[in-house]
Amino acid sequence: MAYFDFHHHHFGKQAGIYNLGVGESPPNGFFSAGFHPDLSLKFSEEQFVWLREISKHENCVAIGECGLDGLINIDDAIQEALFKRQIELANKRQKPLIIHCVRRFSQVIHFQKKAKVPMIIHGFNKRKNIADDLQKHDFYLSFGKSVLQNVNLQEFVKHFPTDKLFLETDDAEFDLQLLYQKVAELKNLNVENLILQIEENLKIFNISLIK
Ligand SMILES: [Zn+2]
Repeated sequence: MAYFDFHHHHFGKQAGIYNLGVGESPPNGFFSAGFHPDLSLKFSEEQFVWLREISKHENCVAIGECGLDGLINIDDAIQEALFKRQIELANKRQKPLIIHCVRRFSQVIHFQKKAKVPMIIHGFNKRKNIADDLQKHDFYLSFGKSVLQNVNLQEFVKHFPTDKLFLETDDAEFDLQLLYQKVAELKNLNVENLILQIEENLKIFNISLIK
């Protein structure tokens, strides 16, 4: 059984979804491909053609990370235009969207109406009222390292539905097993059952896990 790393930037790591860099050659395992909102001004149409092609790859299981970021110095309208194009691509490929969102949750909830595929907010570490709102709108949430330290977040994870949850390292270096143990403990589950539930959740990606 593997500790599936839902979103990470560690090329070559097995059991997880690698976030492919723009123009990068894919690894052997699963990956996601998309434009981070940081790239809203920098991406070229040529790169978008690359994304359209690479997203057909059988190991490309999701579009992303993509989304909206209120802390970067790029107009909302410009970020939203790129986000919308990626939602349309995800609909076309029928692959879920891995979302990067900073301070733009109500907008992301609004954009969800355009998506015909599941949306997963990665690296979630925000307040309970935001999380409740996302939960009400049927988002999946992926939690990372913050759960190990943030007591409020721990309290939230405790009550968040296990069938809507993923765990990830993102770009951090730490032992993912510790996060699985922490979440299992919070939810009063044993780690094996948590792993099994997350494998079950991964069915939204139409991927079969190599055991
Ligand atoms: Zn990331």
